[in-house]
Amino acid sequence: MTVRLRSALAALPAYAPGRTVPGAVKLASNELPFPTLPVVAEAVAAAAAGDAARGLNRYPDNGATALVRLLGERLGQDTERIIVGCGSVALCQQLVQAVAGEGDEVLFGWRSFEAYPIVTEIAGARPVRVPVTAGQALDLDALAAAVTPRTRLVYVCTPNNPTGTTVAAAELERFLDRVPDDVLVAVDEAYREFDVEPGSPDGVEVASRRSNVVALRTLSKAYGLAGLRVGYAVGDPAVVQALGKVAVPFAVNLLAQAAAVAALGAEEELRPRWAAVVRERERVTEDLRELGYDVPTSQANFVWLPLADAALDFAGHAEQHGVIVRAFGGPGGGVRVTVGAPAENDLFLAAARSYPGR
Ligand SMILES: *Cc1c(COP(=O)(O)O)cnc(C)c1O
Repeated sequence: MTVRLRSALAALPAYAPGRTVPGAVKLASNELPFPTLPVVAEAVAAAAAGDAARGLNRYPDNGATALVRLLGERLGQDTERIIVGCGSVALCQQLVQAVAGEGDEVLFGWRSFEAYPIVTEIAGARPVRVPVTAGQALDLDALAAAVTPRTRLVYVCTPNNPTGTTVAAAELERFLDRVPDDVLVAVDEAYREFDVEPGSPDGVEVASRRSNVVALRTLSKAYGLAGLRVGYAVGDPAVVQALGKVAVPFAVNLLAQAAAVAALGAEEELRPRWAAVVRERERVTEDLRELGYDVPTSQANFVWLPLADAALDFAGHAEQHGVIVRAFGGPGGGVRVTVGAPAENDLFLAAARSYPGR
Protein backbone atom coordinates (compact mmCIF):
# COMPACT_ATOMS: atom_id res chain seq x y z
CA MET A 1 0.00 0.00 0.00
CA THR A 2 1.17 3.50 -0.78
CA VAL A 3 0.41 6.44 1.44
CA ARG A 4 -1.80 8.99 -0.26
CA LEU A 5 0.05 12.28 -0.54
CA ARG A 6 -1.63 15.56 -1.48
CA SER A 7 -1.65 15.95 -5.23
CA ALA A 8 -0.43 19.56 -4.83
CA LEU A 9 2.96 18.15 -3.83
CA ALA A 10 3.50 16.16 -7.01
CA ALA A 11 4.43 19.19 -9.12
CA LEU A 12 6.54 20.65 -6.35
CA PRO A 13 10.30 20.80 -6.69
CA ALA A 14 12.13 20.16 -3.42
CA TYR A 15 13.87 23.34 -2.25
CA ALA A 16 17.47 23.05 -3.47
CA PRO A 17 19.79 24.72 -0.97
CA GLY A 18 23.17 26.01 -2.09
CA ARG A 19 25.51 23.03 -2.11
CA THR A 20 28.47 22.69 0.22
CA VAL A 21 31.37 20.81 -1.38
CA PRO A 22 34.34 19.96 0.85
CA GLY A 23 37.38 22.02 -0.11
CA ALA A 24 35.45 24.33 -2.44
CA VAL A 25 34.56 27.97 -1.84
CA LYS A 26 30.80 28.33 -1.39
CA LEU A 27 29.34 31.39 -3.08
CA ALA A 28 25.89 29.89 -3.42
CA SER A 29 23.72 30.97 -0.47
CA ASN A 30 24.27 34.72 -0.03
CA GLU A 31 25.85 34.30 3.37
CA LEU A 32 28.14 36.90 4.91
CA PRO A 33 31.79 35.78 4.61
CA PHE A 34 32.81 36.86 8.13
CA PRO A 35 33.07 34.93 11.40
CA THR A 36 30.43 35.32 14.10
CA LEU A 37 30.96 38.53 16.10
CA PRO A 38 32.34 37.73 19.58
CA VAL A 39 29.49 39.64 21.23
CA VAL A 40 26.98 37.40 19.41
CA ALA A 41 28.86 34.18 20.24
CA GLU A 42 28.97 35.28 23.90
CA ALA A 43 25.24 35.96 23.97
CA VAL A 44 24.54 32.49 22.54
CA ALA A 45 26.91 30.87 25.05
CA ALA A 46 25.32 32.76 27.93
CA ALA A 47 21.83 31.74 26.82
CA ALA A 48 22.95 28.11 26.51
CA ALA A 49 24.48 28.20 29.99
CA GLY A 50 21.28 29.54 31.61
CA ASP A 51 20.29 28.00 34.93
CA ALA A 52 17.44 25.52 35.32
CA ALA A 53 14.92 28.36 35.51
CA ARG A 54 15.94 29.86 32.15
CA GLY A 55 18.01 27.23 30.38
CA LEU A 56 17.64 25.02 27.34
CA ASN A 57 15.30 22.84 29.38
CA ARG A 58 12.67 25.59 28.98
CA TYR A 59 10.63 26.43 25.92
CA PRO A 60 11.64 29.74 24.37
CA ASP A 61 9.49 32.85 24.70
CA ASN A 62 6.93 32.26 21.93
CA GLY A 63 6.42 36.00 21.50
CA ALA A 64 10.19 36.72 21.50
CA THR A 65 9.35 39.67 23.75
CA ALA A 66 12.85 41.11 24.18
CA LEU A 67 13.67 40.82 20.48
CA VAL A 68 10.35 42.28 19.35
CA ARG A 69 10.70 45.15 21.84
CA LEU A 70 14.18 45.95 20.52
CA LEU A 71 12.98 45.80 16.91
CA GLY A 72 10.11 48.11 17.82
CA GLU A 73 12.51 50.66 19.29
CA ARG A 74 14.86 50.45 16.33
CA LEU A 75 12.11 50.74 13.74
CA GLY A 76 9.90 53.19 15.60
CA GLN A 77 7.01 50.71 15.43
CA ASP A 78 4.52 49.42 17.98
CA THR A 79 5.33 45.87 19.00
CA GLU A 80 1.89 44.69 17.87
CA ARG A 81 3.07 45.47 14.31
CA ILE A 82 6.05 43.08 14.51
CA ILE A 83 6.36 39.29 14.45
CA VAL A 84 9.49 37.16 14.28
CA GLY A 85 9.75 33.86 12.44
CA CYS A 86 12.11 30.96 11.82
CA GLY A 87 13.86 32.90 9.08
CA SER A 88 11.83 35.19 6.86
CA VAL A 89 11.24 32.21 4.58
CA ALA A 90 8.96 30.84 7.30
CA LEU A 91 7.14 34.17 7.27
CA CYS A 92 6.81 33.90 3.46
CA GLN A 93 5.05 30.59 4.04
CA GLN A 94 2.91 31.99 6.87
CA LEU A 95 1.82 34.88 4.64
CA VAL A 96 0.47 32.47 2.03
CA GLN A 97 -1.23 30.35 4.67
CA ALA A 98 -2.82 33.45 6.17
CA VAL A 99 -4.34 34.78 2.95
CA ALA A 100 -4.51 32.13 0.21
CA GLY A 101 -6.14 28.75 -0.22
CA GLU A 102 -7.19 26.40 -2.99
CA GLY A 103 -7.55 28.29 -6.27
CA ASP A 104 -6.24 31.62 -5.01
CA GLU A 105 -3.37 33.30 -6.80
CA VAL A 106 -0.04 34.46 -5.46
CA LEU A 107 1.90 36.79 -7.75
CA PHE A 108 5.61 37.45 -8.01
CA GLY A 109 8.26 38.40 -10.53
CA TRP A 110 10.27 35.69 -12.22
CA ARG A 111 12.91 35.05 -11.59
CA SER A 112 12.62 35.95 -7.99
CA PHE A 113 13.08 34.08 -4.70
CA GLU A 114 12.66 30.38 -5.45
CA ALA A 115 10.78 29.78 -2.20
CA TYR A 116 7.77 31.83 -3.40
CA PRO A 117 6.30 29.21 -5.77
CA ILE A 118 7.03 26.43 -3.30
CA VAL A 119 5.25 27.98 -0.31
CA THR A 120 2.39 28.93 -2.64
CA GLU A 121 1.88 25.40 -3.94
CA ILE A 122 2.15 23.89 -0.47
CA ALA A 123 -0.93 25.93 0.45
CA GLY A 124 -2.74 24.68 -2.65
CA ALA A 125 -2.72 28.17 -4.14
CA ARG A 126 -1.62 29.01 -7.68
CA PRO A 127 1.72 30.70 -8.32
CA VAL A 128 1.63 33.36 -11.06
CA ARG A 129 5.06 34.26 -12.38
CA VAL A 130 5.44 37.62 -14.10
CA PRO A 131 8.63 37.83 -16.18
CA VAL A 132 11.26 40.41 -15.25
CA THR A 133 12.18 43.09 -17.81
CA ALA A 134 14.97 42.68 -20.36
CA GLY A 135 17.14 44.52 -17.82
CA GLN A 136 16.33 41.81 -15.20
CA ALA A 137 14.24 44.18 -13.04
CA LEU A 138 10.82 43.43 -11.56
CA ASP A 139 8.13 44.65 -13.96
CA LEU A 140 5.74 46.38 -11.57
CA ASP A 141 3.40 47.48 -14.37
CA ALA A 142 3.05 43.88 -15.53
CA LEU A 143 2.62 42.71 -11.93
CA ALA A 144 -0.18 45.24 -11.35
CA ALA A 145 -1.81 44.19 -14.62
CA ALA A 146 -1.67 40.52 -13.56
CA VAL A 147 -3.78 41.09 -10.43
CA THR A 148 -7.17 39.33 -10.73
CA PRO A 149 -10.09 38.88 -8.32
CA ARG A 150 -8.34 35.64 -7.20
CA THR A 151 -5.09 37.39 -6.28
CA ARG A 152 -4.47 37.35 -2.53
CA LEU A 153 -0.75 38.11 -2.20
CA VAL A 154 1.99 39.78 -4.25
CA TYR A 155 5.67 39.42 -3.38
CA VAL A 156 7.88 42.35 -4.31
CA CYS A 157 11.49 41.39 -3.61
CA THR A 158 13.85 44.39 -3.57
CA PRO A 159 16.76 44.03 -4.07
CA ASN A 160 15.47 41.07 -6.03
CA ASN A 161 16.94 37.62 -5.44
CA PRO A 162 18.52 36.44 -7.77
CA THR A 163 18.78 39.39 -10.19
CA GLY A 164 20.02 41.97 -7.63
CA THR A 165 17.91 44.78 -9.09
CA THR A 166 15.82 47.20 -7.01
CA VAL A 167 12.51 48.96 -7.45
CA ALA A 168 12.45 52.71 -6.70
CA ALA A 169 10.26 54.08 -3.91
CA ALA A 170 8.19 56.17 -6.35
CA GLU A 171 7.71 53.18 -8.64
CA LEU A 172 6.53 51.07 -5.68
CA GLU A 173 4.02 53.78 -4.69
CA ARG A 174 2.57 53.86 -8.20
CA PHE A 175 2.29 50.08 -8.12
CA LEU A 176 0.59 50.06 -4.71
CA ASP A 177 -1.87 52.69 -5.90
CA ARG A 178 -2.97 50.21 -8.58
CA VAL A 179 -3.30 47.16 -6.30
CA PRO A 180 -6.69 46.72 -4.58
CA ASP A 181 -6.27 47.36 -0.88
CA ASP A 182 -7.61 43.92 0.06
CA VAL A 183 -4.64 42.28 -1.71
CA LEU A 184 -1.63 41.86 0.55
CA VAL A 185 1.74 43.04 -0.80
CA ALA A 186 4.87 41.66 0.87
CA VAL A 187 7.96 43.79 0.34
CA ASP A 188 10.81 41.33 0.85
CA GLU A 189 13.87 43.30 1.94
CA ALA A 190 16.26 40.45 2.76
CA TYR A 191 19.18 42.38 1.25
CA ARG A 192 18.36 45.99 2.11
CA GLU A 193 21.53 46.56 4.14
CA PHE A 194 23.61 46.18 0.97
CA ASP A 195 21.44 48.58 -1.03
CA VAL A 196 23.21 51.91 -1.55
CA GLU A 197 20.90 53.10 -4.33
CA PRO A 198 19.32 56.46 -3.42
CA GLY A 199 15.56 56.36 -3.80
CA SER A 200 15.03 52.78 -2.66
CA PRO A 201 11.89 52.22 -0.61
CA ASP A 202 11.76 51.52 3.12
CA GLY A 203 9.20 48.74 3.41
CA VAL A 204 8.56 49.36 7.10
CA GLU A 205 7.76 53.01 6.40
CA VAL A 206 5.50 52.04 3.47
CA ALA A 207 3.71 49.47 5.66
CA SER A 208 3.10 52.15 8.29
CA ARG A 209 1.02 54.09 5.71
CA ARG A 210 -0.68 51.21 3.92
CA SER A 211 -2.45 48.46 5.84
CA ASN A 212 -2.12 45.97 2.94
CA VAL A 213 1.69 46.13 2.91
CA VAL A 214 3.96 44.00 5.04
CA ALA A 215 7.76 44.30 5.14
CA LEU A 216 9.89 41.17 5.46
CA ARG A 217 13.42 41.31 6.80
CA THR A 218 15.95 38.78 7.98
CA LEU A 219 19.03 38.45 10.18
CA SER A 220 20.37 35.68 7.93
CA LYS A 221 22.18 37.82 5.43
CA ALA A 222 23.64 41.14 6.62
CA TYR A 223 23.55 40.18 10.31
CA GLY A 224 25.38 36.94 9.69
CA LEU A 225 22.88 34.66 11.46
CA ALA A 226 21.83 32.29 8.66
CA GLY A 227 22.66 29.35 10.92
CA LEU A 228 20.25 30.43 13.65
CA ARG A 229 17.12 31.29 11.58
CA VAL A 230 15.57 34.63 12.53
CA GLY A 231 13.47 36.88 10.33
CA TYR A 232 10.69 39.34 11.01
CA ALA A 233 7.64 40.91 9.45
CA VAL A 234 6.28 44.40 10.08
CA GLY A 235 2.76 45.39 9.15
CA ASP A 236 -0.81 45.95 10.19
CA PRO A 237 -1.62 44.36 13.59
CA ALA A 238 -4.40 42.29 11.98
CA VAL A 239 -1.94 40.81 9.48
CA VAL A 240 0.66 40.26 12.18
CA GLN A 241 -1.93 38.50 14.33
CA ALA A 242 -2.88 36.23 11.40
CA LEU A 243 0.79 35.37 10.86
CA GLY A 244 0.94 34.35 14.51
CA LYS A 245 -2.06 32.07 14.13
CA VAL A 246 -0.46 30.02 11.36
CA ALA A 247 3.00 29.90 12.96
CA VAL A 248 4.63 26.72 14.17
CA PRO A 249 4.76 27.21 17.96
CA PHE A 250 8.15 28.16 19.44
CA ALA A 251 9.72 28.31 15.96
CA VAL A 252 12.33 30.89 16.98
CA ASN A 253 14.48 29.13 19.51
CA LEU A 254 16.14 30.43 22.66
CA LEU A 255 19.64 30.76 21.19
CA ALA A 256 18.34 32.43 18.05
CA GLN A 257 16.48 35.05 20.08
CA ALA A 258 19.57 35.81 22.17
CA ALA A 259 21.78 36.01 19.09
CA ALA A 260 19.37 38.29 17.26
CA VAL A 261 19.22 40.74 20.17
CA ALA A 262 23.03 40.80 20.32
CA ALA A 263 23.44 41.18 16.55
CA LEU A 264 20.96 44.07 16.38
CA GLY A 265 22.96 45.69 19.17
CA ALA A 266 26.20 45.27 17.20
CA GLU A 267 25.17 47.18 14.11
CA GLU A 268 28.14 49.54 14.40
CA GLU A 269 30.50 46.56 14.16
CA LEU A 270 28.53 45.12 11.26
CA ARG A 271 28.36 48.24 9.11
CA PRO A 272 32.00 48.06 7.95
CA ARG A 273 31.33 44.46 6.90
CA TRP A 274 28.40 45.58 4.76
CA ALA A 275 30.56 48.33 3.24
CA ALA A 276 33.26 45.76 2.43
CA VAL A 277 30.69 43.57 0.68
CA VAL A 278 29.46 46.55 -1.35
CA ARG A 279 33.03 47.40 -2.41
CA GLU A 280 33.69 43.82 -3.45
CA ARG A 281 30.37 43.66 -5.30
CA GLU A 282 31.39 46.67 -7.33
CA ARG A 283 34.81 45.22 -8.07
CA VAL A 284 33.37 41.85 -9.12
CA THR A 285 30.74 43.53 -11.30
CA GLU A 286 33.32 45.70 -13.07
CA ASP A 287 35.70 42.82 -13.67
CA LEU A 288 32.93 40.60 -15.03
CA ARG A 289 31.76 43.32 -17.38
CA GLU A 290 35.31 43.79 -18.61
CA LEU A 291 35.40 40.07 -19.34
CA GLY A 292 32.34 40.56 -21.52
CA TYR A 293 29.64 39.28 -19.17
CA ASP A 294 26.27 40.95 -19.03
CA VAL A 295 25.81 41.83 -15.33
CA PRO A 296 22.80 43.84 -14.14
CA THR A 297 23.67 46.35 -11.42
CA SER A 298 23.16 44.59 -8.09
CA GLN A 299 22.28 46.19 -4.78
CA ALA A 300 22.51 42.90 -2.91
CA ASN A 301 25.41 40.73 -1.72
CA PHE A 302 25.43 38.73 -4.95
CA VAL A 303 25.66 39.30 -8.67
CA TRP A 304 23.54 37.77 -11.41
CA LEU A 305 24.75 36.43 -14.72
CA PRO A 306 21.77 35.97 -17.04
CA LEU A 307 23.46 33.14 -18.94
CA ALA A 308 20.21 31.39 -19.93
CA ASP A 309 21.03 27.97 -21.42
CA ALA A 310 24.70 28.19 -20.43
CA ALA A 311 23.95 28.55 -16.71
CA LEU A 312 24.49 24.92 -15.71
CA ASP A 313 27.59 24.61 -17.87
CA PHE A 314 29.08 27.75 -16.33
CA ALA A 315 28.37 26.47 -12.80
CA GLY A 316 30.06 23.17 -13.64
CA HIS A 317 33.12 25.05 -14.91
CA ALA A 318 33.23 27.17 -11.72
CA GLU A 319 33.01 24.04 -9.57
CA GLN A 320 35.99 22.53 -11.42
CA HIS A 321 37.84 25.68 -10.39
CA GLY A 322 36.85 25.26 -6.76
CA VAL A 323 33.88 27.63 -6.57
CA ILE A 324 30.27 26.63 -5.96
CA VAL A 325 27.78 29.09 -7.45
CA ARG A 326 24.01 28.85 -7.77
CA ALA A 327 22.72 27.94 -11.21
CA PHE A 328 19.08 28.28 -12.21
CA GLY A 329 18.13 26.43 -15.37
CA GLY A 330 15.08 26.89 -17.52
CA PRO A 331 13.58 30.03 -19.02
CA GLY A 332 15.12 33.20 -17.60
CA GLY A 333 17.88 31.10 -16.10
CA GLY A 334 21.26 32.26 -14.98
CA VAL A 335 23.89 32.04 -12.31
CA ARG A 336 23.83 33.81 -8.97
CA VAL A 337 27.18 34.37 -7.34
CA THR A 338 27.45 35.51 -3.73
CA VAL A 339 30.01 38.21 -3.01
CA GLY A 340 32.50 36.57 -0.69
CA ALA A 341 35.83 37.53 0.84
CA PRO A 342 38.31 39.13 -1.63
CA ALA A 343 40.33 35.93 -2.14
CA GLU A 344 37.13 33.95 -2.77
CA ASN A 345 35.97 36.51 -5.29
CA ASP A 346 39.38 36.36 -7.00
CA LEU A 347 39.01 32.60 -7.33
CA PHE A 348 35.57 33.07 -8.87
CA LEU A 349 36.81 35.76 -11.26
CA ALA A 350 39.62 33.45 -12.40
CA ALA A 351 37.01 30.79 -13.18
CA ALA A 352 34.89 33.33 -15.06
CA ARG A 353 37.97 34.41 -17.04
CA SER A 354 38.80 30.86 -18.09
CA TYR A 355 35.22 29.91 -19.03
CA PRO A 356 35.36 28.93 -22.69
CA GLY A 357 31.77 30.01 -23.38
CA ARG A 358 32.17 33.69 -22.47
C1 LIG B 1 17.49 34.66 2.04
C2 LIG B 1 16.16 35.21 1.71
C3 LIG B 1 15.10 35.22 2.61
C4 LIG B 1 15.06 34.64 3.94
O1 LIG B 1 16.01 33.98 4.49
P1 LIG B 1 15.84 33.38 5.94
O2 LIG B 1 17.17 32.80 6.17
O3 LIG B 1 14.73 32.41 5.92
O4 LIG B 1 15.51 34.54 6.85
C5 LIG B 1 13.91 35.80 2.26
N1 LIG B 1 13.76 36.34 1.07
C6 LIG B 1 14.73 36.36 0.18
C7 LIG B 1 14.49 36.99 -1.12
C8 LIG B 1 15.96 35.78 0.46
O5 LIG B 1 16.90 35.77 -0.47
